[in-house]
Amino acid sequence: MSASASHGRAAAVIARAEHVIKGPIWGCRMCGQCVLHSTGLTCPMTCPKTLRNGPCGGVRADGTCEVKPEMRCVWLKAYERSEKLPLWRGHFDDLRPPVDNRLQGTSAWVNLITGRDRETPAGWADANP
Ligand code: SF4
Repeated sequence: MSASASHGRAAAVIARAEHVIKGPIWGCRMCGQCVLHSTGLTCPMTCPKTLRNGPCGGVRADGTCEVKPEMRCVWLKAYERSEKLPLWRGHFDDLRPPVDNRLQGTSAWVNLITGRDRETPAGWADANP
């Protein structure tokens, strides 16, 4: 087996483990770029609009989602939870880059180690002082 094939197999095994652990706990959608630490341990990909930087303008007066009225706005939950976290509270205000859909289904743990999750679109550095 070649080195790249064994690397691919190891990454797939890690991705499966990540899905098994993070799916039931946080509803992880395996976006490959985890930002849970900066969102009060609330997965932003569970927002029906997959917004990464806060709520849309459609939050209802009672705090529920305009797309799914049966659910509370993911971003209200994220804010409330982040206020209670002993760590990373200040990270809530970070500007998170747009999600890279090419990483969908890959392991955020692997992408964190390789640095792939920190690659941003051209021009992002200028837009994010
Ligand atoms: S890897 Fe992405 S989809 Fe999974 S918990 Fe983290 S932010 Fe949510």
